[in-house]
Amino acid sequence: MKSKLIKVLCIFLAVFMLLPLQAFAAPASANQNESTNTDGTPVDSKPVWGDVNCDGQLKIVDAKLILKHVANIIVLTDDQLKIADNNNDGKISTVDAKRVLKVVAGLDADAPDPVPPAPVEEKVNLLTPYTDHGLGTKQMCEVTADFAETVPSSTDNDKNNPNYSPEIKGTFDYIVNTIKKGGNYDQDYYVLASGTKVATKNVKSFKGYTMPQNKASAYKAQSDNNATDLTITVDWKVPFIAKLNIDNFFTGYENRPFNVSSFKGSYIDFKFFFTPSASGEFEIKNSTVISKAQWITDSDNSTSTLRVYFKNSGKYYGYKAYYSEYNRLVLSFNEKPTLSSAVVTLDAGHGGNDPGAIGTNGTYESSVNLKITNYVKANLENRGVTVKMTRTDNSTKSLDERQNFSRKSGSDIFVAIHSNSSTSSKPSGTEAYYYYGFSQPLAKKVHDRLVTAWKDIYSGNSTMINKVNPSDGGVRFKPFQVIRVEECPAVLIECGYLSNSTECGKLCTDSVQKKLANAIADGIIDYYNAQ
Ligand SMILES: [Zn+2]
Repeated sequence: MKSKLIKVLCIFLAVFMLLPLQAFAAPASANQNESTNTDGTPVDSKPVWGDVNCDGQLKIVDAKLILKHVANIIVLTDDQLKIADNNNDGKISTVDAKRVLKVVAGLDADAPDPVPPAPVEEKVNLLTPYTDHGLGTKQMCEVTADFAETVPSSTDNDKNNPNYSPEIKGTFDYIVNTIKKGGNYDQDYYVLASGTKVATKNVKSFKGYTMPQNKASAYKAQSDNNATDLTITVDWKVPFIAKLNIDNFFTGYENRPFNVSSFKGSYIDFKFFFTPSASGEFEIKNSTVISKAQWITDSDNSTSTLRVYFKNSGKYYGYKAYYSEYNRLVLSFNEKPTLSSAVVTLDAGHGGNDPGAIGTNGTYESSVNLKITNYVKANLENRGVTVKMTRTDNSTKSLDERQNFSRKSGSDIFVAIHSNSSTSSKPSGTEAYYYYGFSQPLAKKVHDRLVTAWKDIYSGNSTMINKVNPSDGGVRFKPFQVIRVEECPAVLIECGYLSNSTECGKLCTDSVQKKLANAIADGIIDYYNAQ
């Protein structure tokens, strides 16, 4: 704080020493001294690097203007800022003013050429099935929800498959069949030509014009501290599926075939339907996560796949997909999460109209969950982590709201906190659930800490240990809706069993809630530290 003040004072002093009194007048605008041809049109002269008042010459006044800008006395225009940054380091500082003075004094004549203005991205005019392409008509659908989850068209169970991903808003597909709610189907579905099915509530159906085959091409790759963006030009908003490369799925809890013992994936595939050709290369620089991306075309099946390779196997943190303002598809991959800039979303399960499980002593799960979640929040915030909450009081939140919250919160990780219940009074212990394989490492870290915490909670009481025997419920795959998110690692924790009277007593005790919360927070920190 103090050194900043001294720095600002120094800048002021420097400005006043360089400043004759009459220079308090407003700075010359960028075009004031522009020379003109005899017909009045501007002379096409090259701007002088550092010539902030654009009078065609580098003078001490240019250094003064830079210093006044740095000292917040004046604000330079965007055009002036481009020219002012004459050491070309992307920021305006006293160094730029110093450089102008050196050049004026003849000490440094080789100032670089000004940076040319960034090219303006041209907007793509996308084709839609609302105009005639001369190919006839078909029954079509357009995704109207932000995300329309897709499931294999061939299955009729709830084993939502992590090899599928949602279609994003605006996507078009052809409807080949309709499935009505009933039997094994929990809602109405459309079966789509791309081979998936979507809930009818997420799309609108209409008679559309058959679309020409799509072409995809690499447009650009860009990395900053938060994400690596791969931008793709398409002719129309075709459906695509993201599939994470997992080589070690096994059938586990509830006979579900998508468990992973550890996540070792080395790439993720984005398969574009109705797209028999794709071209162009991505030049990926400065990404902490992505090493390269390659097209694999399958013209027989009219698909093209963009295979995106990870820098390190098992080090992947989610993506989001959206159409840019220029109508291009952006696949935005999270960079490696770091503790110094950590953002965590916590979801206290149930609440409001939905009490969740009811403990043997009558306590609502929703209330236990919120108490533990608040302690996790306090713990993480004490360690400098930014925490977001899907609910902070006893309000009702739908699963859709919670799922979309985690999708849109921009968080590094999402943790839903629940307490369990069984029809039997016997089960006890803790479980951690994941959906996508890349969430498994987070589930494992949190679960390890919770098991240790329970052992500690029951320590010194052999009767209770023998009676309750806190079991390792384990780390499991299960398609809970709130953790079916592609955007970040997402897990659901069952802290313990409210249906077991001993454990219910513990779960309702403030000191135990704190211990469990500290364990969850420690697990989250362990996850960050392992990346
Ligand atoms: Zn619950």
